[in-house]
Amino acid sequence: MAEKLLDQVNKRRTFAIISHPDAGKTTITEQMLLFGGVIRSAGTVKARKSGHFATSDWMEIEKKRGISVTSSVMQFEYEGKRINILDTPGHQDFSEDTYRTLMAVDAAVMVIDSAKGIEPQTKKLFKVVRKRGIPIFTFMNKLDRDGRDGLDLVAELEDILGIEGVAMNWPIGSGKSLKGLYDIQNNRVELYRKDGDDHFIDLDSDGKLPESEELSQDSLYLSALDEIELIKEAGNTFDEDKVLAGEQTPVFFGSALTNFGVETFLKSFVDLAPAPSSHKVNDDEELKPDDDEFSGFIFKIQANMNPNHRDRIAFVRIGSGEFEKGLDVTLARTGKAVRLNNATEFMSSERVQVSKAVAGDIVGLYDTGNFQIGDSIYAGKRKIVYEPLPEFTPELFMRVTAKNVMKQKSFHKGMNQLVQEGAVQLYRNFNTDEYILGAVGQLQFEVFKFRMQNEYNSEVEMTSLGKRVARWIDPEQLDPKMSSSRNLLVKDRYDKPLFLFENEFAMRWFHDKYPDVKLTEKL
Ligand code: GDP
Repeated sequence: MAEKLLDQVNKRRTFAIISHPDAGKTTITEQMLLFGGVIRSAGTVKARKSGHFATSDWMEIEKKRGISVTSSVMQFEYEGKRINILDTPGHQDFSEDTYRTLMAVDAAVMVIDSAKGIEPQTKKLFKVVRKRGIPIFTFMNKLDRDGRDGLDLVAELEDILGIEGVAMNWPIGSGKSLKGLYDIQNNRVELYRKDGDDHFIDLDSDGKLPESEELSQDSLYLSALDEIELIKEAGNTFDEDKVLAGEQTPVFFGSALTNFGVETFLKSFVDLAPAPSSHKVNDDEELKPDDDEFSGFIFKIQANMNPNHRDRIAFVRIGSGEFEKGLDVTLARTGKAVRLNNATEFMSSERVQVSKAVAGDIVGLYDTGNFQIGDSIYAGKRKIVYEPLPEFTPELFMRVTAKNVMKQKSFHKGMNQLVQEGAVQLYRNFNTDEYILGAVGQLQFEVFKFRMQNEYNSEVEMTSLGKRVARWIDPEQLDPKMSSSRNLLVKDRYDKPLFLFENEFAMRWFHDKYPDVKLTEKL
């Protein structure tokens, strides 16, 4: 029994794609879904794409969330493996949601525009992934366009991100003169065909094209050979242990739009990326994915995904065991028993009722308000508590009130829901109880406002408190007289007091005035 479960777990590949907007994340995702047979034509994913729309367009799309539910988690079978791609919103703004999603994957794919190299958003997301120590695979995209020198691009990985890059294939030409890819890993050349009909030529024993091939005399091919010689001598050598530890990233070149090099990439990825492994639970225990008892943690909650149903879905990453419809679990935070009767998985363009899922998979639970982000659930008698998800200290703050005082009820309801979802952080003025919202990016506020109006019919008034530095204070040391407009005293959702300092200077001033008071950056 246990062995069978392990076999199933070993077939799982759960990952996210990180990139700067416009690098080609949507396009490559779509190609992968095509290979997985989930969609039949390109353009399907594009239709719900959020990356380079203005905020207002993005909101229009979110309104139709009945269809975009499938985009939060995309699941398909490929080469005998079960692939789970978790979507990370592509907007430029910081989003806490993205970070939490990255806690639920076992590997990441980093898509880079080969004309632009590493861009700011890639850098930010990379940092989060790096901290987790999970493998990162790099796809240098848009090879059909004139891009930067391959050697440069690989060097940049080390210079800017501090990760070793190791080329798995190498471009022969680029842009209009793109001829193909020298596939180091598979010892072949993949010819470039604009119609996406891939073509392979095996290399002979010394790693060269047979002389009968026209390309073997081509100057671009010859200079690719020189470069490969150079990276073989001076570059990094592939080291699987380093890859698995997230210290080295395999680099693949290609063009998502023309579907060139994508399948080669996907095959290698599925081969090299790790199956779900152990999780740290209960402070210092290792929980194996094939543990007999089901357990998991909630990394995302989304309400009103389908406007017709007004439902709320909690996304669970299964960490161990097997999920079956009707499973009885305990919610670790409250000790309450919950029967998981209603769960959904994310195959194809339809939501499908889950009959069975195992460690590594994501299931969506219909939630009536039981769950919170970061919750652990487990079946069986042994209590299992996963490590807390990282919380990001907000930097932007807004005072918020209901525009129409007669509509307090819907205001509070919406506020509660959206805060539980983790869409924004909620604080209250320590003295007056008025609501203050905190976020790491401006877009979070805009989405909040839009959803309050749209989903709860509650128009809100927001006044910016600007950028603030949040610091918690020990309640024992608190004297309400310490508060002023420059260091606003508020309480968080656990009623813990904190100051919102106008700036670093105001904080230093406070330090000087109350040298004995200890301020902490996180809860
Ligand atoms: P995302 O914001 O990262 O999801 O990027 P998209 O997948 O939406 O791609 C952004 C733009 O780049 C779109 O216009 C794509 O058609 C284009 N694009 C994506 N991949 C390629 C590629 O390989 N070659 C070229 N020439 N354009 C591409």
